[in-house]
Amino acid sequence: MKYITASKLYDFIQCPHRVWRDAYGPQEEKIKETNPFVELLWDRGVKHEENIVSQIDTYEDISEGSHEERFARTIEAMKNKAPLIYQGVLIHENMLGIPDLLKKLPDDTYMPIDIKSGMGVEGADEEAGEEGKPKKHYAVQLCLYNELLKKLGFCSHDNGVIIDIHGDHVEYDLSALMGLRSKQTWWEFYETIKKHVEFLLNNQHQNKPAMAGICKLCPWYSSCKKWCEQSKDLTNVFYVGRSNRDRINEDLLVESLDEFIELDVEEVMKQKEAEKKSGNKEFLYRVGKDSLAKAITRANILHRTKKPVSYGAIDLPEVSHELFFDIEDDPTQDFVYMHGVYERTVNGERFVHFTAKELSDEEEKRVWQEFWQYIESLPQDDYAVYYYSHHEETTYKRLQKRYPDVISLEAVESFYDQPNVIDLYKTVCKQTDWPIGSYSLKALATYLGFSWRDETPSGALSIQWFNEYLETKDETILNRILEYNEDDCKATMVLKDGLVNL
Ligand code: SF4
Repeated sequence: MKYITASKLYDFIQCPHRVWRDAYGPQEEKIKETNPFVELLWDRGVKHEENIVSQIDTYEDISEGSHEERFARTIEAMKNKAPLIYQGVLIHENMLGIPDLLKKLPDDTYMPIDIKSGMGVEGADEEAGEEGKPKKHYAVQLCLYNELLKKLGFCSHDNGVIIDIHGDHVEYDLSALMGLRSKQTWWEFYETIKKHVEFLLNNQHQNKPAMAGICKLCPWYSSCKKWCEQSKDLTNVFYVGRSNRDRINEDLLVESLDEFIELDVEEVMKQKEAEKKSGNKEFLYRVGKDSLAKAITRANILHRTKKPVSYGAIDLPEVSHELFFDIEDDPTQDFVYMHGVYERTVNGERFVHFTAKELSDEEEKRVWQEFWQYIESLPQDDYAVYYYSHHEETTYKRLQKRYPDVISLEAVESFYDQPNVIDLYKTVCKQTDWPIGSYSLKALATYLGFSWRDETPSGALSIQWFNEYLETKDETILNRILEYNEDDCKATMVLKDGLVNL
């Protein structure tokens, strides 16, 4: 029996194709080793769960045995009104759920509780007074447990609880609307997701891979990439995601890059207008004229001309100090551990870094302060800073909130507002196009001939190494992170030079 489980619902939210591929994809193409970063998250989740459970005095432990045995014992325990059940198994028809805890309420029904090593809600901002909203994947998981409890006769409410990374108990009202502007409740959302998952698990419905950022952490990455390349899928083109691809496939019956390149944008827009007039508002929904034209241009460069293009002159400052800047941080712990700068001046090149050696606020603050002291030591008005994507800027604004005595918000903002502090990602997207499917720094610098010293460079691995370093204090691991960060900074330099040459 292919059960609908919490992890299947989670997978579907991450990637709608994953559920089908896990069940029916070419298993020999699936990478067997777990990605080290995924493993790190997994280990952290397990440790957090152990820590929370160790603080509970008494509970009925049903974590051992086969699913069937555990299911029978869970039902027995609930009939016997056990106050708290750990790792009980709930099964009904084609649904299976294992809530971390089941807590008996005064009316003898049970509340599902899951322990998570992330925040209980997303988008919370204490200073702005914003509480944040439930996370989709937590909500659907709680819905599954709740539905199972109802079907088994042990629940009459629409709630569930998440115990988050701080040990806070966050209650989810599953009958509430998903958001202020949403017309859908969490239950309705869950029902839709569950239906899709059910169809995919039964092979009654198949869907296609779509190249996206999430794929890099997925064991199917090479397999799906191969499929996308062989079928000349539209998601090979930078910024054409799954939903646009599906719309174009279905509404225009255009599947491959060869056909896509031949599309006449004006004609397509006339067709869209005609469909709209006849009441079909879904036709090419959210596919606008400009984005379609851009996608076709990119498809042509990727698939036919295979040469990068610059749309006009790219003016970058001529200064005595050029800094290529990149930070390393662990978003799972909201910790910035490295600020790296590759410096190019008339006197030569050098790598400068400010690195935390411990996981503490003092250490995070110390290295950030040193970074700003370094910036102040530069010849003012005669330096330029290059970085890639808004991550550095948003992270620095977050750090400013945490350590307001290091630097004021105005100073951070005016630093990034300077014309000589340049986000090359914006330059790349606005002024150029490239014959590659991703405009990540790695993809662009590699295209320009740069190679990292590490064979498998990735930010996710850097996080894993840093956590290893914290545990072992092994300097060779720290050096690996430094090399990786230095190479990222150098890659930014290679990209800057590549843009100038273009
Ligand atoms: S590689 Fe990407 S498309 Fe394929 S299953 Fe994984 S996340 Fe989905």
